[in-house]
Amino acid sequence: MSLVTDAKAGIITEEMRQVARQEGVTEEFVRRGLAGGHIVIPVSPYRTVKICGIGEGLRTKVNASIGTSSDIVDVDLEVEKAKMAEKAGADTLMELSTGGDLTAIRKKVVASTSLSVGSVPLYQAFIEAAQNDGAVVHMREDDLFRVTAEQAKLGTNFMAIHTGINWETVKRLQNQGRHGGLVSRGGAFMTAWMLHNEKENPLYAEFDYLLEIMKEHEVTLSMGNGMRAGAVHDATDRAQIQELIINAELADKAHADGVQVIVEGPGHIPMDEIHANVVLQKRVTNNKPFYMLGPLVTDIAPGYDDRVAAIGAAIASSYGADFICYVTPSEHLALPTAEEVFEGVISSRIAAHVGDMIKLKKRDADLEMGHARRDLDWERQFAIAMNPARARQIRKERMPADSDACTMCGDYCALKIVNKHFNF
Ligand code: SF4
Repeated sequence: MSLVTDAKAGIITEEMRQVARQEGVTEEFVRRGLAGGHIVIPVSPYRTVKICGIGEGLRTKVNASIGTSSDIVDVDLEVEKAKMAEKAGADTLMELSTGGDLTAIRKKVVASTSLSVGSVPLYQAFIEAAQNDGAVVHMREDDLFRVTAEQAKLGTNFMAIHTGINWETVKRLQNQGRHGGLVSRGGAFMTAWMLHNEKENPLYAEFDYLLEIMKEHEVTLSMGNGMRAGAVHDATDRAQIQELIINAELADKAHADGVQVIVEGPGHIPMDEIHANVVLQKRVTNNKPFYMLGPLVTDIAPGYDDRVAAIGAAIASSYGADFICYVTPSEHLALPTAEEVFEGVISSRIAAHVGDMIKLKKRDADLEMGHARRDLDWERQFAIAMNPARARQIRKERMPADSDACTMCGDYCALKIVNKHFNF
């Protein structure tokens, strides 16, 4: 049995009850969402996690991705990043290490968090091939499935798996070219492997075997977006759409087989194409939960890409994206620090909330903040704030002589002046 098969059989599990309570919806709403493939609740038989529902009618969720690189391998730093992400309010964590002892790092990170953890198993299979056999193109097909099962047993709740890169997709990419190249590591590894070996992507060719592993370990399948645009001029191109169509077909098959499925999407997208991307993704996938990477709405603000992605994520969420992968200020420049992980999560949480104000009409907290500001009730303002500690610290550093107001207007505090004459 899985959550999907339970839901289809009309059974409401404890996980569904918890999501209903968290989101203020009925248990039946959550059950129907799971049964129809519109909601997922990533779980693992190997680890107890904070339950988090993702999908239609639920609050937009934020993922923080962390992990070592071949240049920076510091396990303690990754554990610190995992804790920072949770402290900043991330809903899930992806552990994407590509440097050092990958299994040992993953074990430590997983043990340090109560969040659902995601991974990209093909990284490990390709990197082990590079380390042991000299190049990623020497990856052995069996290793892809072996590491997938091994990572599942470490308590991984969801996995990004690049199933949609097949010969059709690669042909589209070859025919059209790209302004910004191929930026997905998984997409690049798999495309290089297919071209070198002149073989079909094993994750596509052996999809039934992959589903068996997902079912056995109750992993939520997140269908990877290896052809996502890495430049706004490549957004919504044929290779991206081809991969989406393949992933959508496989996602239906996975759901019919009792596996929970998310479908990933781009990437770098100009603002006027975000709506079309969300509608297309939702329509083609029969309304599966949409995991959006960013999206980044311009390419020219390195150092501030958390803000660039927050603009895109707010718009995407308002149109129906369900799950947002954060971007840190150091995106495109370097592996993020723990502080940048914190900043990235906060930026994405703001974006997700702004989107939910439209998508779910969730505006209660804004109403309360308006009242707290009007009443110059600072403690209430801090309690509602996205990051109470930062709000409190800024005020404390620059306290006014008259402590009712703030140092922005000081003696001429507009609220204070008018409050004397109006009883709002
Ligand atoms: S001083 Fe100005 S900014 Fe500060 S609370 Fe009053 S009106 Fe608002």
